[in-house]
Amino acid sequence: MARKILLEHANIPGIKTYEVYRQNGGYRSVEKAIKSMTPDEVVEEVKTSGLRGRGGAGFPTGMKWSFIDKKSGKPRHLVCNADESEPGTFKDRFLMEYIPHLLIEGMITSSYALGCNLSYIYIRGEYMWVYRILENAIKEAYAAGWLGKNILGSGYDLDLHVHCGAGAYICGEETALIESLEGKRGNPRIKPPFPAVSGLWANPTVVNNVESIAAVPWIVNNTGEEYAKIGIGRSTGTKLISASGHIKNPGVYEIELGLSVDEFMNSDEYLGGMMDDRPLKALVPGGSSVPILPAHLIYKNAEGGDRLMSYESLSEGGFQSGSMLGSGGFIVYNDTTCIVRNTWNFSRFYHHESCGQCSPCREGTGWMEKVLHRIETGHGREEDIELLWDIQRKIEGNTICPLGDAAAWPVAAAIRHFREEFEYHVRFPEKVKNRDHFVAEP
Ligand code: NAD
Ligand code: SF4
Repeated sequence: MARKILLEHANIPGIKTYEVYRQNGGYRSVEKAIKSMTPDEVVEEVKTSGLRGRGGAGFPTGMKWSFIDKKSGKPRHLVCNADESEPGTFKDRFLMEYIPHLLIEGMITSSYALGCNLSYIYIRGEYMWVYRILENAIKEAYAAGWLGKNILGSGYDLDLHVHCGAGAYICGEETALIESLEGKRGNPRIKPPFPAVSGLWANPTVVNNVESIAAVPWIVNNTGEEYAKIGIGRSTGTKLISASGHIKNPGVYEIELGLSVDEFMNSDEYLGGMMDDRPLKALVPGGSSVPILPAHLIYKNAEGGDRLMSYESLSEGGFQSGSMLGSGGFIVYNDTTCIVRNTWNFSRFYHHESCGQCSPCREGTGWMEKVLHRIETGHGREEDIELLWDIQRKIEGNTICPLGDAAAWPVAAAIRHFREEFEYHVRFPEKVKNRDHFVAEP
């Protein structure tokens, strides 16, 4: 059985409640940190662990923490990004729904390390029932003395609030999230300044994903050195993967980074192979924003080396022949999938969710959606494929926030790896209109 760090206690009946969580060793990291460690020592442990941001970017958490401006004398804030909205990603929901106190414990220990007295969890609006679970867990933590004034008689005070978004994907971008938390429209800010210097109400702010914060208790309890022994290379620790699509066992899995994609896909402990034993056609390994991989690049990279579940291995080959681990939204497609339709579906999403601040994203996502729609419905023109390529190139790298890139990359990868399928759509419109077109070969 694979090692579990985050989900170790997930199946214990009643673990959602404070009593059961505490009986199973909960809140030990808060005790250890506050009673026997300085805030800087906690930051050092997280640095040593090599933990990387689990929201998708993989930025080293300890390094982000060390960027926080402690000299300005301004209040500091920790904000947990629970605005999980990336298509194919549902692992933070699982953590918060089943083990809410793990996140609360991580928030307290991390807030102590960063010197924050006021912290927030920003949760997506569609997770209303999880919001209530968190509210209840926070109430229990206050009642037990883990939050509020003078925690454990140490003189350290912390208030923690959970705030609900209103259903906009863009509010998961950290600066849009901060704007929204301040009560404004969730428009991303230009970076720099990064939130670590000027974030919530222009105060130094760290924004971390749910899963990153939930890893902190284990790191503090067991040391960063022990955490760094798990995983492979610079991909240390474990990672939650949300698996969906044409597989036998969809769900949320905790894996040790470095597991082979082959084992993850095909062993009974994990996904159990392809649903109905149909052929594998493609994989999106890290949520809708990352490039799609064709079957021949899933288990092996372009050089023939094994593809592993790690930040480095999944991106081997760059965007020519690789992808990204991203948020761990692992979407598997069999041979019945129309890649054009899937790409149009993603494009529709990004067009709908663009905040509209910058022209390449506001206009470009709309154009891509329109062109993809006409190709998919049998009204495409020969030149549309080049037009699509041109639009995505003009979006990438030219926008305020990563939503522009996220909209462009899936289109580029789909054309790069499945061009014949786009061409087929253009050449055989009648087949497409009759919906008799999911395989590329005419
Ligand atoms: P990013 O690379 O811009 O930043 C990563 C983090 O590091 C940020 O918190 C940023 O403030 C910090 N940082 C980077 N350089 C810094 C510096 N010099 N000083 C201080 N701090 C610095 O990426 P991002 O915009 O945070 O995230 C993009 C990723 O989000 C995408 O790769 C995508 O996979 C993922 N994503 C996830 C979801 C989800 O639901 N989980 C949704 C959309 C996108
Ligand atoms: Fe808004 Fe798109 Fe520009 Fe991001 S890239 S700021 S979502 S218009």
